[in-house]
Amino acid sequence: MPPLPVSPTRKHMEPTPPTTPEDDEEEPEEEEPPPVAARPEKTKSIYTKPVDEGVKNDALSYDKRDIANNNNALATTTPAPTTTTTTTSSMVKTRKKKLSDDEIMDKIRSIVSVGDPNRRYTKIEKIGSGASGTVYTAIESATGMEVAIKQMNLPQQPKKELIINEILVMRDNKHPNVVNYLDSYLVGDELWVIMEYLPGGSLTDVVTETCMEEGQIAAVCREVLQALEFLHYNHVIHRDIKSDNILLGMDGSVKLTDFGFCAQISPEQSKRTTMVGTPYWMAPEVVTRKQYGPKVDVWSLGIMAIEMIEGEPPYLNENPLRALYLIATNGKPEIKDKDKLSPVFQDFLDKCLEVDVDNRYSADELLKHPFLKLAQPLASLNELIIAAKEASKCN
Ligand code: ATP
Repeated sequence: MPPLPVSPTRKHMEPTPPTTPEDDEEEPEEEEPPPVAARPEKTKSIYTKPVDEGVKNDALSYDKRDIANNNNALATTTPAPTTTTTTTSSMVKTRKKKLSDDEIMDKIRSIVSVGDPNRRYTKIEKIGSGASGTVYTAIESATGMEVAIKQMNLPQQPKKELIINEILVMRDNKHPNVVNYLDSYLVGDELWVIMEYLPGGSLTDVVTETCMEEGQIAAVCREVLQALEFLHYNHVIHRDIKSDNILLGMDGSVKLTDFGFCAQISPEQSKRTTMVGTPYWMAPEVVTRKQYGPKVDVWSLGIMAIEMIEGEPPYLNENPLRALYLIATNGKPEIKDKDKLSPVFQDFLDKCLEVDVDNRYSADELLKHPFLKLAQPLASLNELIIAAKEASKCN
């Protein structure tokens, strides 16, 4: 295998074709790249109410307040209750019975372990915070294993059902490409979720700070597709595939996280209509409020592949509402310098970003796509992780 480039820091927005030894020799020293801005608020996930079939099926007929509420709420890190956005009485018919706070707490108590996690784990440092809580690293005293603990203040959670969803899906769907749920506890008002710790950070850090080669992109796509094939086989749609929800191990392991927005489908209800996810990554059928199924995750994977090529998803410079409009009207997004990509990669993107759901490949079909044969060993991601960490130190 040829040696990998020493400095893969993102200097421009062009994809890096597979390297040859000659390419490696002529990596010119260029001036340092400008600092990359932190991920904007608008890349946060949103969750809106389901629509009744036939009530609103036209493009972009969502209630603008859904987005506004979500975005305002996200600015204050508290998602808006989706129940306040109901606009037609016919929608109520499709709504599931809302659990009371007491019922939700009973459900949470039935899931968590009894005891004080402070006796079992020693917290080390805060690694980040999201809409629902704060994440720390910790050491399990008995084994010395490093873990991640997500602490969520329950009274502050407007949609506790999503947290239950997240825990149950992670607990019941163990896979090497899914972040491993280890345990959970109630500590006063807080819910603590103990997970395996992925020290490589998120794929977002890598896509925003470095240039990935096609072989590295293929490796990430294959790993994510393995997770998707498994989830879809088990009737779970993730609904929020994006680089922020892919965590990396220093060995190059690639794992899917953030299962709060998952939908469990059944033969009776195999299609969904709720507009869930993050606008820029949403499939056209989600945006246009049609019934949708597992292939929405495949579209989002295609958008994530664009992130790996260009550093960000299409339309990120537009506001979320305009992005939804553009997805609905343009369909397959334009990829800058697409002709510089290898033909198999172009074909792979076409198969993910196919507007016609019947013609879009499933995760299972994509795993057999020849693009994945270009995959470099996962260890090749390590240098990207290190470069991203170095670059973010300078920002
Ligand atoms: P939310 O899911 O609450 O809307 P979020 O996805 O932005 O928010 P969290 O899941 O709370 O954020 O994670 C916060 C930070 O911690 C993120 O930077 C994430 O990459 C990091 N993180 C989360 N889980 C782990 C883990 N198991 N290992 C390493 N880092 C993690």
